[in-house]
Amino acid sequence: MTGEERIEQFAGLVRDSRNIVFFGGAGVSTESGMKDYRSEDGLYNTVRQYKVPPETILSRSFFYQHPDVFYDFYYHFFLDTSAEPNRAHFALAKLETMGKLRAVVTQNIDGLHQRAGSQNVIELHGTVTKHHCPVCHTFMPAEEIRALEGRVPKCRKCGAVVKPDVVLYEEPLDEEVIRRAVGAISSADLMIVGGTSLAVYPAAGFLRYFGGRAMVLINRDETPYDSMASLVFRERIGEVLSGVMGKI
Ligand code: ZN
Repeated sequence: MTGEERIEQFAGLVRDSRNIVFFGGAGVSTESGMKDYRSEDGLYNTVRQYKVPPETILSRSFFYQHPDVFYDFYYHFFLDTSAEPNRAHFALAKLETMGKLRAVVTQNIDGLHQRAGSQNVIELHGTVTKHHCPVCHTFMPAEEIRALEGRVPKCRKCGAVVKPDVVLYEEPLDEEVIRRAVGAISSADLMIVGGTSLAVYPAAGFLRYFGGRAMVLINRDETPYDSMASLVFRERIGEVLSGVMGKI
């Protein structure tokens, strides 16, 4: 099949679906210019600058032991960015408006889906758009965190270090979020998976709940689930989804 024929086939699946669920990972955000700390460059630079790998910095124990290092890294990788939603985010928001897409399940924490207009976004790893005091649960607006430019935010009520509403390494996923993700995936008729290699737990585990008609996979590299998919695209996800939107 040519690329054009595969896009046409994908568009046909979308036309026949009323309950699409999108499951996405880092690749969706990197097309918006978000820095990817898991990429070779990100990893190399982090270790050189901070002397520890990003997974260590983004762990619960490290957060409490070295909040100053954590917030410096967090600010540079997640808050100090001019990233804007891209064609993939906008296509998914449009599919939801059209009544075709029920939910976006994402491993990303940047809030770009919501900025593109998506309403039902299930954020498996939380979000950098919200921060709370872990002691007294006082909310701190993201603008205040950003204004600190990487310095440690303190709770205005009790003085404790404020924590992003992000699931750190060593922390479990939120049970209510898991329940919503499983509910959406298990009732989907078409599953679109994009920008994730599906190599890392728990991402791959969620796909087990899908029992719908077809799965479409869009990822630069091969994934363990390619053989389960009706269609596989190696092209950029923004390009593929906007191509599809032009045909439905
Ligand atoms: Zn507090």
